[in-house]
Amino acid sequence: MDYRRVFEDAIARIKAEGRYRIFADLQRQVGRFPRALHHRPDGVREVTIWCSNDYLGMGQHPAVLAAAREALESYGAGAGGTRNISGTTHLHVLLEQELARLHRKEAALLFTSGYVANEAAISTIARLLPDCVIFSDELNHASMIAGVRSSRCEKKIFRHNDLEHLERLLAEQPRERAKLIVFESVYSMDGDFGPIEAVCDLAEKYNAMTYLDEVHAVGMYGEHGAGVAEQWGLMERVDVIQGTLAKAYGCQGGYIAGAEAVVDAVRSYASGFIFTTSLTPATVGAALASVRLLAGPEGRELRARHQERAATLKRRLAAEGLPVMPSETHIVPVLVGDPVRCKQASDMLLDEFNIYIQPINFPTVPRGTERLRITPTPWHDDATMDQLVEALVRVWQRLEIPRAA
Ligand SMILES: *Cc1c(COP(=O)(O)O)cnc(C)c1O
Repeated sequence: MDYRRVFEDAIARIKAEGRYRIFADLQRQVGRFPRALHHRPDGVREVTIWCSNDYLGMGQHPAVLAAAREALESYGAGAGGTRNISGTTHLHVLLEQELARLHRKEAALLFTSGYVANEAAISTIARLLPDCVIFSDELNHASMIAGVRSSRCEKKIFRHNDLEHLERLLAEQPRERAKLIVFESVYSMDGDFGPIEAVCDLAEKYNAMTYLDEVHAVGMYGEHGAGVAEQWGLMERVDVIQGTLAKAYGCQGGYIAGAEAVVDAVRSYASGFIFTTSLTPATVGAALASVRLLAGPEGRELRARHQERAATLKRRLAAEGLPVMPSETHIVPVLVGDPVRCKQASDMLLDEFNIYIQPINFPTVPRGTERLRITPTPWHDDATMDQLVEALVRVWQRLEIPRAA
């Protein structure tokens, strides 16, 4: 067995398909958001980031940094163990209480990431339900798919946001059989909303439990930043809400919020929760500050500015005839429709215009829908937006990428 060869071949296959990923070597700088230093073979340059999931710039909010410093200085660098083995600090308890209150649920539970939260919670909830069948939207995130898989339960995939299809699949099952519907409130590659109310109606009609991933919504939607379910007045109707502290909250970690018994069962049975060291105190302290800030007036102001920036960018790109894909949210996808040109466009933006937007290619999105996914933040001002629009127009001309129909 030529072990080395196996791995070289695996890489070669990905390269041949044009799917080999190269990470931009970036250095974010406190006080300069959304700008960062880009380390290249020929030196270091300042670039503007237009594709960060630190959607509101909270990763460098002075109060968040102060909370991280304070937690670090008073609690130390690491949590010291799993939650069971002395890794529960008072900050973990406070943050879980805050998140439960935010989502108006009885309890919440922290995980080391949003990915781990989905994998651990979905698989545990489904496994505890006797003979459970899971209904999963076809565009669900990889972490939800991992949860569905590791539950080893029967699964039914419904077409994206297709309520008729979901209903047909639900109706095929005996009413008494345990059912879990897993879906998202904001699908992050297309920027569309999940039909939360209609899914909850179906869940009620067919006696199913609901699990909603609000990763791309928490901090950004709703009066207190609890997500789309809060904005639409539906939080009470969703059984389990899952979120991350790593995107709009600008830190790290994931969580679920729900009924006490559900959360306690996941705490007691989920391997991905039990057997890993808990989040560092600095991270938890920072996240707690961020959640509290975004629940208040400053959060409402940032959310308003965030939506305004996204709407303005969509309008300006459309006015230039650039193919902005229809998006109802803060996410602004621009269609390229070809993997090679998508990568070229991204490279050209970075090399010639100091603008960083990573290419989104298969398998993240279907072939033929390769795109640039732009995420404007409240901190991308008009002048910065002018530079982006001008650069995109030039790149579209140079690479002869199709314009909007
Ligand atoms: C990013 C993402 C996750 C994972 O969250 P992390 O905190 O980054 O691990 C889960 N669900 C969706 C939809 C995501 O986009």
